[in-house]
Amino acid sequence: MQGSILFSCILFFALSLFSVNLWKIVRNIRLGKSKNRFDQPLKRTIILLKVAFGQTKLFHRPVSGILHALVYWGFLVITIGTLEMMVDGVFGFERLFGALGSFYNLVTASGDIMAVLVLVSSFIFMFRRLFLKIKRFSGKEMKKSSSIDAIVALVIIVFLMISLLTMNIGYIGLHPENYFGSFPVSNLLFPYFSTWDLYLLHTISWWTHIMLVLIFLNELPYSKHFHVVMSIPNVYFSNIESLGKMENMPSVTKEVKLMMNPNTDQYAIPATDTPTLESFGAKDVTDLNWVQLMNAYSCTECGRCTSECPANQTGRLLSPRKIMMDTRQRLKEVGKNIDKYGKGYSDNKSLLNDYISKEELWACTTCNACTQACPLNIDPLSIIVDLRRYLVMEESAAPKELNMMFTNVENNGAPWQFPAADRLKWKDE
Ligand code: SF4
Ligand code: SF4
Repeated sequence: MQGSILFSCILFFALSLFSVNLWKIVRNIRLGKSKNRFDQPLKRTIILLKVAFGQTKLFHRPVSGILHALVYWGFLVITIGTLEMMVDGVFGFERLFGALGSFYNLVTASGDIMAVLVLVSSFIFMFRRLFLKIKRFSGKEMKKSSSIDAIVALVIIVFLMISLLTMNIGYIGLHPENYFGSFPVSNLLFPYFSTWDLYLLHTISWWTHIMLVLIFLNELPYSKHFHVVMSIPNVYFSNIESLGKMENMPSVTKEVKLMMNPNTDQYAIPATDTPTLESFGAKDVTDLNWVQLMNAYSCTECGRCTSECPANQTGRLLSPRKIMMDTRQRLKEVGKNIDKYGKGYSDNKSLLNDYISKEELWACTTCNACTQACPLNIDPLSIIVDLRRYLVMEESAAPKELNMMFTNVENNGAPWQFPAADRLKWKDE
């Protein structure tokens, strides 16, 4: 009874803390502009199953891909057991979900096996982080804290899996004839622990496991591992159009069509319309849309985008991972300002210039290799394009080669220096 009360208090405190931090992140994402990504639910669900649950994009690099998928799938299965532990802890039951019969056997057996696979994968990941010099884990945007964050998470996962197995071993020992579930690995290990105090082993393992779950849960909002939470909505609401398709700005499209065909009144502004003051592109995070801001919170800092980026490979300043990390960093800063000074406060800083430089932006070839490579369908290019649009359309700060091309488009209807009337001259020669 006392244990249940203590656990209920701890659980309430941990879930409340997580909810507050989650609410702040959702509020920050809602600072973005509106964007319709609620269309085609069937297509989106299929992509969700393939990319998020199936982890298909990770298999492009088979070894790390399979290991990561094992950890992800392992967590999905083990989460069912964690929910059971929470219910048991609050109401003082033991293995309440055991009433589910053979489904429970399937879940517990999978969890028991997955615990070992996750354990082995975590040790390999740790070895790789600590002793192998993997190029995509480095870069000027990668601070020491990123590495520490990854190692801390791996250590927590290792202890989570060990405590899960020892808890199962203790449970089997306490109920040798009539336990619920199926535990193939723990049964195999049981003889090595048969002389231990199994009640103590079970109690310590149970509390260690559930406390680590709650600590990990509350570490998530502060770390790149928040992608565990964000990956599912992020993939669902990702861009499902062909990657090469640029999103045009409707007002500019209208102007261009008018310019190309001035005799049509299809695009004419009705006399009654009051002209609105429109700004183009994005200067700060609040000019981006909510999907782009959600992308920023979902980035795992894995570096797959940067390792495929031709600009980065040829020594230019650009790193798409840095674009996402900068966007997240700036959004967190804006959020903290709101917490401190309220909405509408300006710190006279912006994503453009204070975080991302023009040189980085103009190094992009718009090839989409980053978006293609991202295991979570994050789209760094859309942010680059919006920041560039601001530079061009609000500050007239395009590189001079582009300015020349813009003048040609305006005067000649084409990027070249020749007037439209001369276009067919080649046939006279
Ligand atoms: S679209 Fe730009 S940032 Fe992305 S890979 Fe290509 S060059 Fe790099
Ligand atoms: S944008 Fe995608 S590929 Fe790039 S670091 Fe983030 S999660 Fe990895």
